[in-house]
Amino acid sequence: MTARVADVEVSLDHWIGGERVPSDERFEDVSPIDERVIGEVAAGGADEARRAVDAALSAFETWGRTSPAERAAALHRVADGVEARIPELAAVETEDNGALLRSHLRGVMPRVVHNFRFFADWLLQLRHEDFDTRGHRNHVSWDPAGVAVLITPWNAPLMLETWKVAPALAAGDTVVLKPAEWSPLTASLLADVAAEAGLPPGVLNVVQGVGEEAGAALVSDPRVARISFTGSVPTARAIAARAAANLVPVSFELGGKSPLVVFGDADMDLAVGLAVEQYDNAGQVCLAGTRLLVEASVHDRFVAQLLDRIAALRQGDPRDPATDVGPQVTRAHLERVDGFVRRAVADGATVLAGGGPNTELGGLYYRPTLIADAPEGSEILTEEVFGPVLTVQSFDSEEQGVAMANATRFGLAATVVTSDDARAERVAAGLVAGTVWVNCFFVRDLRAPFGGSKESGVGREGGNWSFDFYCDVKNSVFAPSGQGRT
Ligand code: ADP
Repeated sequence: MTARVADVEVSLDHWIGGERVPSDERFEDVSPIDERVIGEVAAGGADEARRAVDAALSAFETWGRTSPAERAAALHRVADGVEARIPELAAVETEDNGALLRSHLRGVMPRVVHNFRFFADWLLQLRHEDFDTRGHRNHVSWDPAGVAVLITPWNAPLMLETWKVAPALAAGDTVVLKPAEWSPLTASLLADVAAEAGLPPGVLNVVQGVGEEAGAALVSDPRVARISFTGSVPTARAIAARAAANLVPVSFELGGKSPLVVFGDADMDLAVGLAVEQYDNAGQVCLAGTRLLVEASVHDRFVAQLLDRIAALRQGDPRDPATDVGPQVTRAHLERVDGFVRRAVADGATVLAGGGPNTELGGLYYRPTLIADAPEGSEILTEEVFGPVLTVQSFDSEEQGVAMANATRFGLAATVVTSDDARAERVAAGLVAGTVWVNCFFVRDLRAPFGGSKESGVGREGGNWSFDFYCDVKNSVFAPSGQGRT
């Protein structure tokens, strides 16, 4: 079964062993733009999961033995295919998850291409210098591990899928990808691209379906060698429990409640500009610095400038290049976001901007919201909202600012704005987070480790860290030559 989406023909079936596979059960894929049903997507379960792992295992027999040069060439062909289809992929993803077309075209899809090229190239220079133990030569190698199950969320589907697919395939693993049920379409197009690029059947498989069925079946399969997951903490716990039964290594990138700390010496335009960026993707970004912590001496000036910038944000159809803030991904998600705001008000917080759905636009559009005076420890300050909702609090000293930044069970990212270089170093060192940005935001490099501290994740991916995860890292020790001769 297929659907025509933004003039592109998209298969709504699974991709298993190089074939399209339907399911009796199907689920509705709804566009956040106008809540229309795009199509009925195949809902995989235990059968489809088993078939996909069968296909991936059998493909591993040959893919796992290909040379790094062959795999790198294959990944570059996939990158070429993605590059050639950027306009289609961007348009389909916008219909599917409501993120801005302009961001997909300029930023997201080119990064998808880069994911494949980067890990292809990194594979070719992956080496650890040999070293000597009393005349014995130690040689470290990264061997393919087997079948990798990759489970991904809806907020940046193809970007987050390929951030896992590319290193897993480069490592020599074969893949079963389970995209999020709210935005399954570009994974299906990726399967087409991979097939056109000549990836052998079974090397990349896509199983569509809801998490508790398709996802749960995949992560329970004892034949799986690696599980990489990006999503929520409760789901991570469920996956970890299943992975534990089979002792399968996991890599988790989870939620955040990241701080953006503005010191009194900060460049105020920069600070306000970075704060307004936190509404990107309508706030549906795990890395977003949603807790604005501002030194008391500049708090009022910062808030006044930020309110002006919020008022200037244009909300609307994500296909319109003039739009800054699009819709929430589903009605259930919009209601969840609104629930957080309602309860914050009930707890005594003040809404400085937004505070509810955009009634002029209707649909799933939620106004960019700024909340002040939330009581210490209240839910809006501790739980991840994952919508266009920021809180602002003030602090009186560097020590207090850092303490407030770290007062969270999450630790994905933190942003610091200061013009004092010594303070920047001190504060970056004191923050508990997988990534710290100083006077910038979202500068990402695939060579860098990426992941979360505390409840924001398990493990790191990027550069060598990805290969360490997706491979069996082996040390071979060679006695001096001649020692083995009889
Ligand atoms: P979000 O809140 O971002 O939707 P989820 O953790 O619910 O986060 O979903 C992220 C991904 O995890 C999706 O692909 C979803 O289908 C999948 N998923 C949800 N529940 C499970 C589960 N029990 N086992 C495996 N995958 C799951």
